Amino acid sequence: MKNKQSYDEYVNQLGKVQDAMHWQPYKDQRVECLLCPRRCKIRNNKTGSCRVRGSIDGVLKTYNFGMALTATEEFIETEAVNHYRPGARILSMGNVGCMMNCSFCQNWETSQVKYLDHKAIQIYSPQQVIDICNANQIEVLSWTYNDPVVWHEFVLATSKLAQANGIRTLYKSAFYIEKEPVEELIDCIDIFSISLKSMSERFYRRITKAKLQPVLDRIIQVQRSQRHLEISQLIVPELNDNDEDIKRTVSWVRTNLGIDVPLHFVAFHPAYKYSHVERTPVSTLQRARQLAFDAGIKHVYLGNVNKANVNDTACVECGLTLIKRYGLTASVENLNGDGTCRQCGCQSSIKELWQEKQPLENIEIAKPVRNQLTFKWSASVQAIHIVRSGDNAIDLVKIQPFGVGADQDQSGGKSEYKPLLRTLGPGLDRFIVCKRSDSETGIVMQWHSENQFNILPVLDRAHFPVPIDQSSIGSYSYTLEKKQVRVL
Ligand code: SF4
Repeated sequence: MKNKQSYDEYVNQLGKVQDAMHWQPYKDQRVECLLCPRRCKIRNNKTGSCRVRGSIDGVLKTYNFGMALTATEEFIETEAVNHYRPGARILSMGNVGCMMNCSFCQNWETSQVKYLDHKAIQIYSPQQVIDICNANQIEVLSWTYNDPVVWHEFVLATSKLAQANGIRTLYKSAFYIEKEPVEELIDCIDIFSISLKSMSERFYRRITKAKLQPVLDRIIQVQRSQRHLEISQLIVPELNDNDEDIKRTVSWVRTNLGIDVPLHFVAFHPAYKYSHVERTPVSTLQRARQLAFDAGIKHVYLGNVNKANVNDTACVECGLTLIKRYGLTASVENLNGDGTCRQCGCQSSIKELWQEKQPLENIEIAKPVRNQLTFKWSASVQAIHIVRSGDNAIDLVKIQPFGVGADQDQSGGKSEYKPLLRTLGPGLDRFIVCKRSDSETGIVMQWHSENQFNILPVLDRAHFPVPIDQSSIGSYSYTLEKKQVRVL
């Protein structure tokens, strides 16, 4: 863990300072922030608990307008969204700070500002974000990673612009936020993926430093708005993994949201102040899933589990598998274009079936391959961020999976594993690659430019890995081999 920064060090590295929304003057020349239920009363030249909003001369300011982690291409399943455009590529945007302080935070390097490495930060304008989506044919913009609540002003401005450009917007959050800002979000967000931490008030106060009831109230507010909603819960060993906890969550979802809202139980990895336990066992998640099915919830999924048959979507009438998923990948199997089941004709709850638009399926790498990188999956690393550095504005990258029953040198295209082609256009320097089947053991990536590509292991969905001393993470390992190959 890095050393804490002093306040002065932090202020000296602040991003863009802009007037904030949602505040009022408070006594003793303080200002009261009304964005989240913490309602910080902030003295002059101090910040609130999130450390990205503060008072300057009696006016509440946001210090992180446009201050973002590197824009990253991922899949919509990364955000615990399974019933909206399955398989869609998304542009993931995260920033820094959080209105909560969960002891098990899976993104603590960026959510807890005092540990932030400012080299990981860039400044984007709303228009630049939209330009990246358009240049790379990405049709869903996702606010994710730390928590989008704390850069509300930037999220609103950019989401409105996105919708004006025909881009869908997704909000992945723990949703500790006040009612009025949520009304503003409902106007410009299409998809809400909300992480409900527990149904215990005590859990919220002790472990997350927040309160439960406001989160529940805001979830119901979204549900009533008719916007797309999915709920996830991180199951943390020894904290919220017993049957009683899970039954309370399931019962609340059933009573207040209904049995059609998809529910995800997500595996935790040891992180931040909660590193003395192992990853959540799959058996625990499967038990939670069964409890939810027993209570009548129609669609229950397991997050961070790379296994077949735990994330498929079945027809609620005839049981036919409509969508197959493995890890963070999805393939639509038995759905008609209008979302009905091919076998019985029942209307599914999948919204906006999505077709890959980028015209890459039949394009081979146009120029000779110069560089090759091989990555082998390990038990704990089954998804990676691939990060580009260099001058080339556009790269065409070929990802060739290999594994059991296939030749490991795939350059001749003999593999039974289907290759993926990716373009990295202007502004997009980072993308996710995931293991796609039990038998896949690794990937070979080839590209023709002089650009460099590096790899960071993604330990969980919606985890933004930062360069870090590997020894501090503990029990994971991977192998990586880079080589220059002869120009063909
Ligand atoms: S958004 Fe930040 S400053 Fe505002 S009340 Fe919440 S924690 Fe405090």
